[in-house]
Amino acid sequence: MDFHAFGWPTARSLQRVGYSTHAPKVITRLVASEAFSALFSLTLYFFVSHLTQQQHNPACAQPFPDHTIVLIAIPTTSGSCSEVTSYAIISDPQNGRKYPLIAEELVPDYAILDPHLVLSVPLQVAVDTGMDVLTHAIEALVSSGANDFSDALAEKAIALTWQYLHDIFQDEKDIQARAHMHNASCMAGMAFNSAGLGLVHGMAHAIGGMLYIPHGKINAMLLSLVIDWNARHAPHALPRYLKCAAIMGIQTGTQKHTLNALINRIRKINQRFGIPVT
Ligand SMILES: [Zn+2]
Repeated sequence: MDFHAFGWPTARSLQRVGYSTHAPKVITRLVASEAFSALFSLTLYFFVSHLTQQQHNPACAQPFPDHTIVLIAIPTTSGSCSEVTSYAIISDPQNGRKYPLIAEELVPDYAILDPHLVLSVPLQVAVDTGMDVLTHAIEALVSSGANDFSDALAEKAIALTWQYLHDIFQDEKDIQARAHMHNASCMAGMAFNSAGLGLVHGMAHAIGGMLYIPHGKINAMLLSLVIDWNARHAPHALPRYLKCAAIMGIQTGTQKHTLNALINRIRKINQRFGIPVT
């Protein structure tokens, strides 16, 4: 059995791996950053390679099921949630871009959630990735693709994140809080995998390709601005944001005041977590 280790999923590193490696049978994915694993993208690489091979020489190509890759995901941060989603990102620092990949083949066959693996994650990374979880859940809840199942997952993820991210900030070795955030990350991933994401992530990927800023931190910086804009321009969004506010225990009377309180509360936790305004 051969073992290969891969780092950050850049376009160049994937190309290098693809030229030097035979299609694997099993990929075990340790998701070690707030972004998405190279191994995740590698699954798609081999899938696409197979299709290309079939196109060029159908007679010689093996049917894909013979080469089905078993993908086992073990997240080591609470944020990317790529252990349960069909999304992956490949960075292209040479051209200042990030390429999103979306394919059902990227959903792992098995996900193992062990909060002990995130205990050593530095506090600022835990906070940035935690804000990514909150953004995933809020965007899934407000998405036009939201449904009863994604709502249930998103609402629980918001409640858990709102409570336990603060606890981690107080005590980064709090294993119970880490476990709840790990679960929240997974739930938010399942929610947005079904409902979709929104404007925060659309802009965050574009900005993240140009500037080396952690994904979760960019999301946190954009979240209050997008809530403000969406609530004024998308008719269905306001009641959804008010639901977010209710889950967070924010209710101040009129809808407008509650919305403003939600926006201000997110700005305040950014400030508390050391996340800049711009
Ligand atoms: Zn994200």
